[in-house]
Amino acid sequence: MVLAEGTRATARRVLCAAVRRLQEAGVPEPEASAEILLSELTGLRRGELYAGEFDLSRRQLERYAEWIAARERREPVQRILGYAYFRNLRLQLNEETLVPRPETESVVEAVLERVDRRGGSCRVLDLGTGSGAIAVSVAQERPRCRVYATDVSEAALRIARLNAAAAGVEVEFRRADLAAGLEDLVNGVDLLVSNPPYVPAGDIPRLMPEVRDWDPPRALDGGPDGLAFYRRIFSEAGRLLAPGAELVLEVGDGREGDVLRIGELYGYVARGVRTDLGSTPRAVLLSREV
Ligand code: SAM
Ligand code: GLN
Repeated sequence: MVLAEGTRATARRVLCAAVRRLQEAGVPEPEASAEILLSELTGLRRGELYAGEFDLSRRQLERYAEWIAARERREPVQRILGYAYFRNLRLQLNEETLVPRPETESVVEAVLERVDRRGGSCRVLDLGTGSGAIAVSVAQERPRCRVYATDVSEAALRIARLNAAAAGVEVEFRRADLAAGLEDLVNGVDLLVSNPPYVPAGDIPRLMPEVRDWDPPRALDGGPDGLAFYRRIFSEAGRLLAPGAELVLEVGDGREGDVLRIGELYGYVARGVRTDLGSTPRAVLLSREV
């Protein structure tokens, strides 16, 4: 951090210098990034950082300067830290895992409501689990469920397993290309949840650098129209579903109608949508008739 020679490196001064640097580099929401990074570094709550009496050690100062430089290059805060907060969890990340998004927390809520309506114990399958955000949350928040989770990326599954262990929950992880090879689950899944890759391939170059340059392409690329994975889920995962099973699928902005229509074409019953904290439809709800 560029502080005048001889000035005390109080949290408040360091923070203001960092915000200025991020602002000049054109980083969106510079205060949020600077505050979160300093709060994680020092263990102080964000509100305490401006109180001004805490002095950073030399090592803390060096580290923070490296982090701010990384953020100037548009590395996301969660990648710099190596972890992300999601519901009650702190999830480790690696280069093969998507940074779990706050919007996806509402997808988990839709699953939990359905679990409760079914009496609290059912078999839940999370397709494309990434860091394990959805699967580990459901296992933690509804311990009577049996939770299965897949990903095509072995490296993502490694981290997801660590995240489940750290949360003290059991999730059965399987490496699978969508529903291939999950023979023991045929007709056995009560709730299928997925946040599949849904960005239309041609839109990827226009995404924010934090997403385009740092999230794994395999976690984003939803094919030419962004809907390729929904078609695959409807056609390939149907045989895993128990009669009366329900589906909760995260969708991109404005795509809820498209995904519900495709589901209906494959014989599922549209049950509505679930909005996220920003009131944007974020998940579609469907069921498989008995
Ligand atoms: N569920 C996580 C979350 O919400 O944060 C990650 C979602 S990310 C958008 C999609 C995930 O699907 C990635 O982890 C990716 O590796 C995985 N994936 C991509 N293609 C797949 C396939 N053919 N079969 C299984 N998983 C796949
Ligand atoms: N939510 C991601 C984004 O910010 C997309 C993730 C996905 O494809 N499911 O664009």
